[in-house]
Amino acid sequence: MKVLITGGAGFIGSHLAEELLKKKYQVIALDDLSTGRMENVAHLKVNPDFELVVGTVLNEHLVDKLVERVDVIFHLAAAVGVELIVKRPLESLTTNIKGSEMVLEMAYRYNKKILITSTSEIYGKNVNGPLKENDDRILGSPLKVRWSYSTAKAVDEMLAYVYWKEKGVPSVIVRLFNTVGPRQTGYYGMVVPRFIEQALKNKPITVFGTGKQTRCFIHVKDVVKALIKLVEESKAVGEVFNIGSQEEVSIEQLAKEIIKITKSKSKIEYIPYEKAYEEGFEDMQRRVPDTGKINRLIGFKPSYTLKQIIEDIVKYQNW
Ligand code: UDP
Repeated sequence: MKVLITGGAGFIGSHLAEELLKKKYQVIALDDLSTGRMENVAHLKVNPDFELVVGTVLNEHLVDKLVERVDVIFHLAAAVGVELIVKRPLESLTTNIKGSEMVLEMAYRYNKKILITSTSEIYGKNVNGPLKENDDRILGSPLKVRWSYSTAKAVDEMLAYVYWKEKGVPSVIVRLFNTVGPRQTGYYGMVVPRFIEQALKNKPITVFGTGKQTRCFIHVKDVVKALIKLVEESKAVGEVFNIGSQEEVSIEQLAKEIIKITKSKSKIEYIPYEKAYEEGFEDMQRRVPDTGKINRLIGFKPSYTLKQIIEDIVKYQNW
């Protein structure tokens, strides 16, 4: 089997490529290296079953040629990271919507299976938990740029779903909840790599807001295994699945845990949202996935605890 990973040199894409190669798939990674990095896949280049193509999902001719050559597409290319979205909303909207439309259209042209990665941002401010796949989306004003990402990803989901319903493109949608692990950079705002870097340098840990907001963090290795199993399972087609951990932690607790594990001298510094992001920024106070659906279909269960995840990233950053 030959697969195309869009965003294949990114944080999740590179781990997915690694796992697929282990399972003897042939992998083409397409990446424009905007947030993806050559060093994420440098170790894979020696493998004759791996090919890196530097280019964008917005290039029709290129995407056409690549989709034609493969059996399955994992569409991960996206502009992600709350800070990036707040700073460059236009780029985030175009890459996410036009890019997905392009890849889906090619999947239709060549009748290929496609997995689309969406996000827990879809649920917006819905603080109920655990969130089920058909729960409501609660969003703020479209003029608050934070919601542009949620909206763009919802459009991606709708496109994937109607390409399946109307045109029969076998598509699978997944919503990823706070995926973390080695190779993720804190540069675009992601909290875990950022706190670990701050702790290792004994710098202040920048907790935004009160720090009482909660998240559930899952190791990228657990995520990529689930993605592959879903693509291998015919009953996943036309469906949407949450993927995440249910170990809920407040951001303040996370900072304390990281300080403890790294034996850091760092102190917590509380920063108001309007200073951290922009005036009127709205954060999600809680985000816990219900993972019953994916558990029933493929027996999904995360294998790393939060402590093990932090230790793994510390090891990587110290290396
Ligand atoms: N956050 C923080 N300090 C940082 C970066 C993020 O307190 O330096 C908070 C952020 O406001 C949010 C949580 O950590 O409440 C998770 O942020 P991240 O951007 O990693 O993911 P998302 O907001 O998409 O869940």
